[in-house]
Amino acid sequence: MKEINIIFFGPPGAGKGTQAQKVSSEINLPHIDTGSLIRDAIKKESTLGKKAKEFVESGNLVPDELVIDLIGEKLSTIKNGSFKGFILDGFPRTIPQADALKNLMKTMKLHKPTVINVQAPDEILVTRLSARRLCSNKACGAIYNLISKKPIVEGKCDVCKSDLYQRKDDTKEACTQRLKEYYTKTAPLEEYYRKQELLINVDGTKGSAEVYKQIINELEI
Ligand SMILES: [Zn+2]
Repeated sequence: MKEINIIFFGPPGAGKGTQAQKVSSEINLPHIDTGSLIRDAIKKESTLGKKAKEFVESGNLVPDELVIDLIGEKLSTIKNGSFKGFILDGFPRTIPQADALKNLMKTMKLHKPTVINVQAPDEILVTRLSARRLCSNKACGAIYNLISKKPIVEGKCDVCKSDLYQRKDDTKEACTQRLKEYYTKTAPLEEYYRKQELLINVDGTKGSAEVYKQIINELEI
């Protein structure tokens, strides 16, 4: 099998995480998400993990350089096996991160990545993002989604019948704010990857199965 390196890209709510996981399990490529990468390194108390721990414990963001080192370390481990490629999800989020990743991949002599841009208009993104509801009973903690996982009785938990509520971060206002941040910091990557002819656009307004089909078609695997 040829080496396939994929970066999933797109605004919050477009469904890129779901698709990244699906592609990863269907074509058996390791799915690297930087959040778990950092948590695992801290747990293992590796040299990089110890450094990361200092930032996390002091409430700071782990700096780009360290994240890139962690990705490099992870890729070398994968490369030692039978390397077929990898899937990155949630990274890069900024142009400097993308430049650093590009250098890393060049140093490691990896194939250029395919960047899958999962797109959807703002109204759909905000509707999806603000559809989450949580059970108010802390001991239960069930999570619902008014689009994809509706409770049987409106406003009530299926499991324990307690009232459902919406988290502050999930309100329409908060979601619109998250999107604004995405457009300022991350969206410029679209142009960055388009110029390098690495970008593939996928219509994220369709159902999950259809989006997956589009991705597989585009990857030609
Ligand atoms: Zn409940």
